[in-house]
Amino acid sequence: MVKVQKSAHKSLVRRLNMSLILGYLRTSDRRTRASLAASTGLTRATVSTLVDELIALNLVRETGLQHSQGGRPATRLELNPEGGCVIGIEIGVGFIAAALTDFIANIRWRDRVELDTSDPAKTVSIAEKLALEAEHRGRALSLKVLGIGLVLPGLIKTDEGRLKFAPNLGWHDMPFQEMWEKRFGVPVHVVNDGNAAALGEHYFGVAAGYHDFIFINAAVGIGAGIMIDGKLFQGVEGYAGEVGHMVIDPGGALCPCGRRGCWEKAAGIQALLKYVIDAVRSGRFSRAWELAEGKANKLTPDMIAQAAAEGDPLASEAITRITNLFGIGVMNLINTFNPQLIVIGGSLSRVIEPFLPIVESVVSEQSFRTLTDKVVIKISSLGDDACLMGAVAAVLDTVFADPAQRSEKAQQQFPAISLKA
Ligand SMILES: [Zn+2]
Repeated sequence: MVKVQKSAHKSLVRRLNMSLILGYLRTSDRRTRASLAASTGLTRATVSTLVDELIALNLVRETGLQHSQGGRPATRLELNPEGGCVIGIEIGVGFIAAALTDFIANIRWRDRVELDTSDPAKTVSIAEKLALEAEHRGRALSLKVLGIGLVLPGLIKTDEGRLKFAPNLGWHDMPFQEMWEKRFGVPVHVVNDGNAAALGEHYFGVAAGYHDFIFINAAVGIGAGIMIDGKLFQGVEGYAGEVGHMVIDPGGALCPCGRRGCWEKAAGIQALLKYVIDAVRSGRFSRAWELAEGKANKLTPDMIAQAAAEGDPLASEAITRITNLFGIGVMNLINTFNPQLIVIGGSLSRVIEPFLPIVESVVSEQSFRTLTDKVVIKISSLGDDACLMGAVAAVLDTVFADPAQRSEKAQQQFPAISLKA
């Protein structure tokens, strides 16, 4: 019995150390066995054994010699792009985006389908076809699938990978992880859009190097991905980050959630559009209205941004109003979490970008001074790709946490399912 425990313990330690080494190769410039030993505190012999195992798993490769002053040149190591592939799928409102990346997250294939329906059966069927197409592309590159990351715009029960509710799609209770793991035979990770975008920006975008930051996804709704000490804060069941429903004006407009004056109702896309439409209907002129050919249902946030850039007073006034209210929500988040960085993404970020100084001044005037001294506010650098890259990062995170086990679970190919199914 003692023997079994001892060997189980040894195996756990080996897996943790392997993860540690892989993590250093992912995020630092430690590139030789000696520097890895120095950074991890492991012996040179242990590092060499584990690196050999990682090379055998195809996750790490040697890339020539590194010369240093004195001593023999050392062999350089790096993550092996051919270590496997990851499929990222994002189901949004009106579209599905898909990508296939290699082990270092280079995009090797991508596609996007615009949808005029949110019917769950039709939408899921298209998403599955895209996943199959991605796997075919991976197979053509001789890459085995390490997992699928799926982004959904709603509340996700993270431990089950189950969508509980997606208000803007009208979907309830869909067990995506169970459904897709059964169908595709590889690990599936289901991530909420705000959390996915935060992960994407953390590994590949403007939040690289930041461990305490908040990604705010500003679109029709407003959601957030909150990273604390390098980890996503998800709450007890995974529903944290519904910041769009913090009430900033109890006498304000009625929100579909049943309350009045929610942040997203006051500072989301609908509020921006409504401001311009109401003003035009009361007799004022706006260039944005011309761009929309005088039709309320054609008016978009980008038209209002363009009109403002052309000097249209009403468009500027509308964006100024919305940006001020947006700043109030940002201030509340800064006072609550004391982050190093706020990243603003989502389709509304393009409208906010030229008006960012307004957000900054609301924050600096209304937050506690000591909290705002060091906080930086940036616009997302990945734009529309933030969620998709976050889905890929979510899968890679689990591989990095346990490389040997996850590499074994990866499949050379999906079960044979016809693309025409
Ligand atoms: Zn609400």
